[in-house]
This record gives sequence, C-alpha cells and structure tokens, in this order.
Amino acid sequence: MHISIISCVPKLLESPFSDSILKRAIKKGLVNVEVIDLRDYSTDRHKSVDDYAYGGGAGMVMMIEPIDRCITDLKSKRTYDEIIYMSPDGEQFSQSIANQLSLKQNLILLCGHYKGVDERVREHLITREMSIGDYVLSGGELAAAVIADSVIRLLPGVLNDETSALTDSFQNGLVAPPVYTRPAEYKGWEVPPVLISGHEAKIEEWRHEQALERTQKRRPQLFKKG
Ligand code: SAH
Repeated sequence: MHISIISCVPKLLESPFSDSILKRAIKKGLVNVEVIDLRDYSTDRHKSVDDYAYGGGAGMVMMIEPIDRCITDLKSKRTYDEIIYMSPDGEQFSQSIANQLSLKQNLILLCGHYKGVDERVREHLITREMSIGDYVLSGGELAAAVIADSVIRLLPGVLNDETSALTDSFQNGLVAPPVYTRPAEYKGWEVPPVLISGHEAKIEEWRHEQALERTQKRRPQLFKKG
C-alpha cells in the first residue's frame, strides 16, 4: 500500500510514523508513507499556499492552484483509489471504513489548515471527505495520522498474532473484553480467576460474555446496527 499525505505543515507528521508499529510496517515494506510539502507546489516566491477569503471574514483559505498541481503530479506517478480530504463535516471515520481502505492500493490524504480549502477543491479534485469526529482541529495532519494508523495496522503482517487486529473492538460488532497482566493480585485487586485457570474454552466463553456485556453498557448502538 502507498499513502501520500499532502500537508502545508509536514513536520507535524514526522513522529507518528517514526516509532513502534507504524515504523516497523514501513521498514518491512508493507506500506510506504510519503509526506508531501504542499509549499513545494506553490508558484509564488514566498511559497504561500493560502490567501484571504472572498467576502471577507477571519481566517485564511488554502488556494486551489498548489493543491491541483500537487494532486496532478502525484496522479502522474500512480493511480490512486481515493483522494480523501480531511474535513470536520466529512463522512464519520469508523472501523468499517478503516477495513475498507485497508484493501486499497494507493491513497491520498489531503490535510487542510486555517479555514480549510477553497470549496472548488472539494467539488472537483477529491473523491471522498473524512472526519474523525465532531470537533475542530487546527489542521488535518492529526486526522490523517489517525486514519493512516488505523488502516496500516490492518495490513497483513503489520501486527503479530498477540496483537491481532481481529480481536480488537468493533471488528466483530462488539467492544473488546477487559485484559490483565501480571501480577495476579495487586493491592488486593485480583485478576478474574478464570483467566488464570488455563481452561481455554472457559476463557473464550468469559471473554465473549464480557464483550457482550460491555457493548450493551458502552456501545448499545452496535447491536442495533445488526
Ligand atoms: N473552518 C472549518 C474548519 C477548518 S479546521 C470548519 O469550520 O469546518 C482546519 C483543517 O483541519 C480542515 O481543513 C481539516 O482538514 C482539518 N480538520 C479539522 N477538524 C477535523 C476533523 N474533525 N476531522 C478531520 N479533519 C479535520
């Protein structure tokens, strides 16, 4: 998989991909993450990518031209399955969209900044808009990192068996059951005895019951989705 992230603040995207699981996935060649500095596509000598809003009002707007030049350049190198603009009013990102995107080959994630991008970018240059929640971030970089992380960890070979994505919340329409590690007792707080029993079938049954109970309590809407 290849993920191209377009940003006018590429530094914000340095650390999410330089440690732990994502770093290993990149090193193993399971995914290639390319962060593109939008300013490289600016035609002006100050490398600016934003301008005042037509009609006035507070906040700058990202210009269409550098974005168009950047996307055109990227598209000349590979065929993209989706060009996704990060936007608070976009489609709500979810585990099922992460699953869907993990089957794609090439993705562009476009990060906005300031007041967002010129509306014509949204009308003509992208294929999809994604929000990570009903709140406003100062830029799309953190949202892009969230989406890239949740997609990359689903790629075959990224997680080892112990951390298998299939046992995580939402994969089977349930949230995950509680987990424990040593010590078996801490300050009098005990680990549920069944987990130490060594009885695999009973452990599985307990985990399933806990997942059902937690889903009922915390995310009852998951049952309604069927
Ligand atoms: N004026 C816009 C917000 C701009 S925030 C509005 O009111 O809708 C600046 C940029 O941050 C956006 O262009 C978008 O790329 C990103 N962003 C902010 N919140 C986001 C969210 N919840 N999900 C995804 N991207 C978001």
